[in-house]
Amino acid sequence: MSAESVNDSSFQRPLEAALRHALEHLLQVRDAPVGPTATLAELRERFDVPLNDAGVDAARVVDEMVEAAQGGVTGSQGGRFFGWVIGASLPAALAADWMTSAWDQNAGIYAAGPAASVVEEVAGKWLKELLGLPAEAGFALVTGCQMAHVTCLAVARHKLLAERGWDVTRDGLSGAPAIRVLTSTEVHGTTPRALRLLGMGEGCMEKLAVDEHSRLRAEALEQALGREPKRPTIVVLQAGDLNVGAFDDFATLVPLAKKFNAWVHIDGAFGLWVAASAKLRHLLAGAERADSWTTDGHKWLNVPYDSGFAFVADAAAHRATMSQRSAYIAHAEEARDQIDWTPEFSRRGRGFATYAAVRQLGRSGVEEMIDRCCAMADALVMRIGALEGADMLARPQINQGLLRFLHPAAGASEEQHDAYTDRVIAAIVASGVALFSGTTWRGRRAMRVSVSSWRTDEADVEVVVRGVEKVLRAMRQ
Ligand SMILES: *Cc1c(COP(=O)(O)O)cnc(C)c1O
Repeated sequence: MSAESVNDSSFQRPLEAALRHALEHLLQVRDAPVGPTATLAELRERFDVPLNDAGVDAARVVDEMVEAAQGGVTGSQGGRFFGWVIGASLPAALAADWMTSAWDQNAGIYAAGPAASVVEEVAGKWLKELLGLPAEAGFALVTGCQMAHVTCLAVARHKLLAERGWDVTRDGLSGAPAIRVLTSTEVHGTTPRALRLLGMGEGCMEKLAVDEHSRLRAEALEQALGREPKRPTIVVLQAGDLNVGAFDDFATLVPLAKKFNAWVHIDGAFGLWVAASAKLRHLLAGAERADSWTTDGHKWLNVPYDSGFAFVADAAAHRATMSQRSAYIAHAEEARDQIDWTPEFSRRGRGFATYAAVRQLGRSGVEEMIDRCCAMADALVMRIGALEGADMLARPQINQGLLRFLHPAAGASEEQHDAYTDRVIAAIVASGVALFSGTTWRGRRAMRVSVSSWRTDEADVEVVVRGVEKVLRAMRQ
């Protein structure tokens, strides 16, 4: 297609095709099998056509791509997807995400997309309000919690070393005072990965013991801090761990870490959202006094991928760490240039979808969504846990719970229960009724029940409980 042939209808047919396919997916996902129904070989065969020489009609490209993807798209946009921690997309957020692509702004600097810059400014302000974070904190909209950790921990590294007279921006880490990271055994894998990327290495991390509620033990932290009281230290705490949604005791741990001048970072990938719930926000008491926080939009706020948020109390240090100046860029004096806050240069205008999600729900709608997900997680765990052959390991405190399944043989061993649990999870997924993922928790295999979709309701819970009951009955025969 030549540039001259672009006319009003160039976008019409492919976009109409996309709208038609999208609506079809979003409507049928409610009742369709949740897990994949196509095999790897099938998907490869369908997509892997020879690289074409001549171009293909745009609408046909869309139609054929959708056709090839059949059975290879999981039902994460529905109400019965409970694997990992994966949210759906709110209608306004999805539509805003389409507009983001239609506008295709480079949201790195204000000059290239003023509206994208201002919408992020406002989204950041709203997020801090919803999450109970200091109004003056710096923030960045990034790809996910992984890069939010990188952003926050880069600032921590910068500031801790600056306090010791070391300029990491200029001199790097060779010869710098060695930073250590204290966290709990329940830390998410994205924290060590961020340390790897930041040149600090996973080896600087010490995983401390937790109590029976999976919370970092205060004595363990105090002892570790006391061992090397002068060493530059980052303490990584959790607001909602992956298995049971545990919250560290911030009211005790944050002041303790501060006594040793440590930087406190909180991983709240999904858990930080309980700040929106009057019933649950007590779990975050004291968290507002940390130095940095991360969370996701694409998990519990139900914004499309990719959407993660980094917040840093010391906005000046945040900016000093990330700021990028180049002669050819028109830097804004008054407006927000996102490259001053994010690790990216050219980037998607991700503020629009977040802005739209918050607008669609409002404060009370976010609260209602958080509380409903928790209620549905509890109903799933309690009701499946009451079925013959099921065993509840952890009742949800928020939206995460754990179940396991007991091998029907009399006197079955723990290893047999473990293997049986994995077989039940696979059978549930194969049945199409729901998607759950497994985990190893305290040495035992378990099925995670994780509810983050705005669409999950009582009818879904009913269908899933009946479906799991059927799977368990069939397996006993
Ligand atoms: C999902 C998750 C992360 C990583 O977030 P991404 O958005 O996938 O990068 C980090 N920590 C916890 C506790 C998580 O659940």
